[in-house]
Order: sequence, then structure tokens, then C-alpha cells
Amino acid sequence: MKSLKLSIVIGLAIGVVVLLLVIREKQREAVFYPMGGIPFKIVAYGRSASEFRDDMAAVKERVFELERVFNRFDGTSELSRINGAETVAPLYVSPDLFSILLDSAKWHRLSHGAFDPSVTPLIELWKRSGQTGRLPADEEIATAKKRVGFEHISYTDDGRVLFTKEDMSLDFGAIAKGWIADEVAKLLKKRGVKRAIIDAGGNALAFGDGTFTFGIADPRFSGRKELMGTVKVSDGGVVTSGNYERFVTIGDKRYSHIINPETGRPVNNGLTAVTVIGGSASDADALATSLMILGKDRSIELLKEFPECEALLVANKDGVWHVFASASLLPRLRLAGPWADNVHSF
Ligand code: AMP
Ligand code: MG
Repeated sequence: MKSLKLSIVIGLAIGVVVLLLVIREKQREAVFYPMGGIPFKIVAYGRSASEFRDDMAAVKERVFELERVFNRFDGTSELSRINGAETVAPLYVSPDLFSILLDSAKWHRLSHGAFDPSVTPLIELWKRSGQTGRLPADEEIATAKKRVGFEHISYTDDGRVLFTKEDMSLDFGAIAKGWIADEVAKLLKKRGVKRAIIDAGGNALAFGDGTFTFGIADPRFSGRKELMGTVKVSDGGVVTSGNYERFVTIGDKRYSHIINPETGRPVNNGLTAVTVIGGSASDADALATSLMILGKDRSIELLKEFPECEALLVANKDGVWHVFASASLLPRLRLAGPWADNVHSF
């Protein structure tokens, strides 16, 4: 009788411990809307309610701090202070701005000039065209191009930056969300989070044991609600760049928000979306935009230089959708209906 009671007590105790572990391993989610309203979502595993509340407070503080550095549309941001800076003397910038400048310089080089955050004058020119409904003249494009070229930025070892060309301005829209996701991952790891997903509006990163399943947005629709499929990944970035969400309409034609620095014109090479998997989120972000600019064939060539990254390219040829995917990705990729019909591996 005594041993029966003891077994019940031990059984109950084990039950309580298991229940507590299950509650602790529970996934917790939160979303907020920084950077002009993008959904910034965190999923963390193994955190108590109060730990996660503190995690989120720290995440928001860091994200808002970085937004005050990188936001080109906020006249008081640090980036606004250096945009249009005189070419005479190098300027001191914050470690965050210096660091994204160096990462951008790296991707400008690795993408053979396709990735170029100094295309701002061209972005503005095409944005104005969208508003007036008039295509820019060749001379207007040539004039804007004179202010573009990331190779005209130089750095000093003590963290100063110098624009060596008149009236340059930078836009980190192609790398900042991934870069911020990486910073948030660093912060969460430092706080003791062992497993999490950070998703800055389609610029995502996962870390921790096991695999994670990510949805890939269907590029026929904006809003990222519909999925073309899912992919299983372990640690690393999962970033999509595409023409299908942000564009301007001039006449009855859509023009991408991504500019080919070589031509000074919005990209128009048949690629609709690119997802890069692997590496850091900032590398995946910069690489995904670069591939959108380079087009399918040059992208497949360039990807050979980055064995740590896999990619999924979506192209439309004569009204037919085609998916080009890294061969190593195929076993982990599940595509829905029409997308599964024309899959090519490389
Ligand atoms: P993403 O969505 O990451 O592909 O970034 C697109 C954004 O990057 C655009 O909205 C522009 O702000 C900026 N951008 C456009 N063209 C380029 C380019 N060639 N290099 C770097 N950034 C660009
Ligand atoms: Mg990008």
C-alpha cells in the first residue's frame, strides 16, 4: 500500500516535470510593424512567457535603433545625414552604418556591380515617372547615372566614409532587412535563445537544432499570403526578392523597383522572383537582389561561387512559369500544383 502511494507520488511528480518541460519548449510568437509597416515576426522556442516578453522588448529597441540609422525616408536618420554629403572630407559614421557599408561593398564586388546601393538617383527618377506617367528620357537616365557607382565610396580604417563623386546618395533597401534580421539573431542568441526564426517581411533567418519549414510566396500575387510551396531548411537565411510586390505602372506596363545599374533601367529579364537559402540573412538578401538583376543564366553561373547558398528562381517565358532550383534543394522542396510542372535543376 505504502509503495503504491509512493509510485503515485513519483508518477505525479514526473508528470508535472514533463508538463513543465512541454510548456517551456512551447513556441512563442510575436509580430510588430517597423520600417514603414513590414511584418517583423519572431518565433522563439523554449522561452518562458516572461523571458519572451523581455526578448521582444530588446528586439524592438534594437530594430528601432537600426531604423533610425538606415531609413532613407526619415530626414533625421543617420543615412539622411550622409546622403548628399560634400565630397571634401571623410565623415565619421556609426559602427552599424560602417558595417552595412562594408557588407554592401563586398556584395557590389561579388555581384560584379549588379548590387549597388548608390542607385538612389535612378530609383527616384523611376518613382517620379510612375507618378507622372511619363517614361524618363535617355538623357535623364544618363544624368542620374552620373551620380551612381558604389566604387566611388572610400573608407578609412578609423570608420570614416568619403563620397568621391558629387551628390551621391545611398539606399540600403536591398540588404537592410536581412542585415537587421542577422542583428536580431545575434541579440537573441546573446540572451540565451537556442532556437528561433526571425522574419523581416520575407527576409528570414533561422537558428538552432532541427529543421524549419518556410513558405515561399506565390509570385502571382502580392501580399505574401498565397504560397507556391515550402522548403525545409536548417540554420541560415531564407530571403525572397521579387518584382511582384513593389513596382510602378507607366502606361499599361509594370516596372520593377529593382534597377539594373548598368542600363539605369528597371530589371526586365524574365525573372519574377528569387529565393536564396543559406548564409546569413544579409548575404541572402543582397544575393537575392543581385540575382534578380543578373537574370537566370548569369545567376546560375554566379551561384557556383557560393556553395553555401541554394536558390530558387521563378521565371515567366511566353506566359509559361518555370522554376529553376539548385539540385541540392529538390529533396527539401514541396511545390504546389502548377509550380511543380516545369521544374529545372542546376
Ligand atoms: P529587395 O527587395 O531586397 O530585392 O530590394 C529592393 C530594393 O533595393 C529597392 O526597393 C531599392 O530600394 C533597392 N535597389 C534597387 N535596385 C538596386 C540595386 N541595383 N542594388 C541595390 N539596391 C537596389
Ligand atoms: Mg535584397
